Amino acid sequence: MKDGFERKTEYLRISLTDRCNLRCQYCMPSQGVTFRRHEDMMKYEEMLRLVEILAGAGVKKVRLTGGEPTVRRDLTWFVKELSGIRGIEQIGLTTNGLKFAEMADELYDAGLRLVNISLDTLNEEVYKYITGQYGAKKVMDAVNIALMTGYKVKVNCVPLKEINERYLPEVAYIARDRAVDVRFIELMPIGCGKAFEGVPTEDVKTILKNTLGIYREETEFLQEIGEEPEFAGPAKYVRFKDFEGRCGFISPMSDCFCDRCNRLRLTADGCIKPCLYSDEKINICSMMRAGASDKDILAAIHEVLSHKNQRHSFGRDILGQEHRRMNEIGG
Ligand code: SAM
Ligand code: SF4
Repeated sequence: MKDGFERKTEYLRISLTDRCNLRCQYCMPSQGVTFRRHEDMMKYEEMLRLVEILAGAGVKKVRLTGGEPTVRRDLTWFVKELSGIRGIEQIGLTTNGLKFAEMADELYDAGLRLVNISLDTLNEEVYKYITGQYGAKKVMDAVNIALMTGYKVKVNCVPLKEINERYLPEVAYIARDRAVDVRFIELMPIGCGKAFEGVPTEDVKTILKNTLGIYREETEFLQEIGEEPEFAGPAKYVRFKDFEGRCGFISPMSDCFCDRCNRLRLTADGCIKPCLYSDEKINICSMMRAGASDKDILAAIHEVLSHKNQRHSFGRDILGQEHRRMNEIGG
């Protein structure tokens, strides 16, 4: 499946829910959130049908996100069903890690191998300030348990000006004694994120270099698995001296990677979106419930893909931009 700019689409990010057990200030408000009704959410069976259709059209990699995917019931069953779909080579989960430790074994047995755990700071007070509750230690335990269980683990950290900025080296240190990729992600001006100031990648690199010393740049766009160049992710990696793992930088603002974008997104209410920031979408859930055939669904996805923008429009106030919050779209 290719978009109008000849970019191959092989990666689907599925938002399983808009609900969450945290309230990260830059993602969702602490009060007054209205969630979609359960009957408006896409059912697992509908998602599986969609993944089968997309796998037949070349999608090989699926990532489960949200909201917080671990708060959706029967996640393990869903992962097991997904891993049985012919053509799906890789399943990943992005989680805040609070519930992950208790689910690590069963999810691994169900076929999950990749887990990205979000941790913006190891300082409990700052963690509570950002997320609304204490939990940094619990998340760190989840990172260790995930590694022991055999997962390939990445830690995601969003640097926020004057909030977790001075604690970034501690987060990077997670990769010192562990085979973990710690990735620093530039804050995107989406939903609640608009009210905060992120730290540009170059500034994060300076903070880390000043604390951790000189690093060696890894080949740009290291492939996430195997030799398949199409699985290359958006992070650029470095390795600090004597570190077992790597530090990565995902820079949607200062170094846009749209020209290599290989992804589609499915929102929890069943819309396929070709771009995080654009409002362009097609409601697959409604189509399915109205009796659309697999062929109709694939044609509709091709149509929306053909309108995918060449690059995102962060920072420009234009018509057609996404106004929903990150927890609603799926981060
Ligand atoms: N709840 C899960 C978690 O926190 O990992 C999955 C969903 S969350 C929306 C996915 C990732 O998006 C998290 O790492 C979070 O820090 C990041 N995120 C949320 N809002 C963001 C924003 N405005 N800019 C950049 N990253 C953001
Ligand atoms: Fe929840 Fe993840 Fe958003 Fe934090 S970033 S509020 S954990 S969905």
